[in-house]
Amino acid sequence: MDLTSYAEHAVHLVNTEQQARGADLLRSPEDVLALIAPVRRIPPRVTDADVTRLRSVRTRLRAVFTDAAAGREADAVATLNGLLAEFPVHPRLTGHDASPWHLHLAGDAVGAAEGFAAIAGMGLAVQVTAHGIDRLGVCQASPCRNVFLDMSANRSRRHCSDRCTSRANVALHRARRRARDSETGRHT
Ligand SMILES: [Zn+2]
Ligand SMILES: [Zn+2]
Repeated sequence: MDLTSYAEHAVHLVNTEQQARGADLLRSPEDVLALIAPVRRIPPRVTDADVTRLRSVRTRLRAVFTDAAAGREADAVATLNGLLAEFPVHPRLTGHDASPWHLHLAGDAVGAAEGFAAIAGMGLAVQVTAHGIDRLGVCQASPCRNVFLDMSANRSRRHCSDRCTSRANVALHRARRRARDSETGRHT
């Protein structure tokens, strides 16, 4: 199993805050259950305290992406190290459902928020060491501020999705046309 794939959970958590749409997909215990379903085979008990805790983890994970994308690597690393210390993993070899032996990073006894924070933090840390901290990005297609992992060959990704890329292209096109029109206006 590739632990870097767990970094996607950090991305998912941060992107529950849909700032462009003014929506928040992390407001209830049900939202937490939906978020953690991929990493918890047996759904744990989830309370409002888990919602609060995960929202605070979300803010800190966003800071890791924002700082990394702005070149403030030391700040990004300090925040991530804080999360790793606060939410330790509980590695456990398991072979449920006749699957080959593999690692789970949070056992079934770990709290919902703690377990997810540990998995997301460790995934992001492994991702940073394997592929570089400059792989952490924040979408440049305002007002979207979704985060992403840039796995492009030349590290040139600027947007969270194809949708944001085309939106940014349209905006650029309009801006150029406006500039051209005002230029023309001056000469007539
Ligand atoms: Zn498993
Ligand atoms: Zn975006």
